[in-house]
Amino acid sequence: MIDWNEIDTVLLDMDGTLLDLAFDNFFWQQYVPEQYALARGIPEERAHRLIGEWVHSHQGTLKWYCLDFWTGELDLDVAALKRGVAHRIAWRPGAERFLQGLHDSGREPIMVTNAHPEVVRLKAERTGIERYFRHLVCSHDYRAAKEEQTFWETLRGEHEFDPARTLLVDDSLPVLASARHYGIGHLWSILHPDSSLPPREHTRPFPAIDRFETLLPDEAS
Ligand SMILES: [Mg+2]
Repeated sequence: MIDWNEIDTVLLDMDGTLLDLAFDNFFWQQYVPEQYALARGIPEERAHRLIGEWVHSHQGTLKWYCLDFWTGELDLDVAALKRGVAHRIAWRPGAERFLQGLHDSGREPIMVTNAHPEVVRLKAERTGIERYFRHLVCSHDYRAAKEEQTFWETLRGEHEFDPARTLLVDDSLPVLASARHYGIGHLWSILHPDSSLPPREHTRPFPAIDRFETLLPDEAS
């Protein structure tokens, strides 16, 4: 499926790719609206609607991924709320074995995530995910989300790589489109980013990974 001979650099997303997006969807779609309703003394239904609208209007922007922004906007300690439900953070099936296989084949991937650095820290604490990576890159530190070309330009300035010989695995189709526009040569999505929902029917125009095991480099399988 993936010709590893054509790949020098491996870039991997975190949420929905290596870790189960069920955590993040639960957090924003259930837990935050509940906590917001409690804090404001308003009906949950209204909190769901308000937060749904906010999320919708900021999705795909750096703000949407920024804990400080949401903490200010909602007047809730979003980081503390995340810590409170951190036991729900989980690997996607096969993801850790895939990372171990990459490691065993001598590859050192770079994590590229739109998640806030504090969220990355929390998820690393829970899963130990950082030990499989040469670098963890948060778009927050570049002041540009992966959906923006500036992100890839800054990444290449910091970590030299040949875009044509680079693999990106990311569940987000807008992010993959942005990477394709920049010239990243090998792009894969994820068929089932959130275990609490059914798998997606397609991720067109990008191919999707169903089981990580099928992707392992030969040396490791
Ligand atoms: Mg993702």
